[in-house]
Amino acid sequence: MRAILFLLLIVLIFLVVRFTLQRIRFIRAQQDAEARAQEHAQKVAAETMVICQVCQVHLPQNEAIQDGDAFYCSEAHHQMANKAQS
Ligand SMILES: [Zn+2]
Repeated sequence: MRAILFLLLIVLIFLVVRFTLQRIRFIRAQQDAEARAQEHAQKVAAETMVICQVCQVHLPQNEAIQDGDAFYCSEAHHQMANKAQS
């Protein structure tokens, strides 16, 4: 009887360890996927070119200053555009 209980305990521990390892693997895979998606989004933003509304210079979107639909190459041109509008 004792041997059966001992065996059941070992099986139970095995199942718990296996479940935990699977859970860790699943979480790691999820984190990897998230990191890849984030990297991809940054890459897309870096490759998308926008035009400064003041001087018409082309620059990557991640380096531009965005105000609604408009993009600016610098804070100075952003302020210049705001002053021109008001
Ligand atoms: Zn500009």
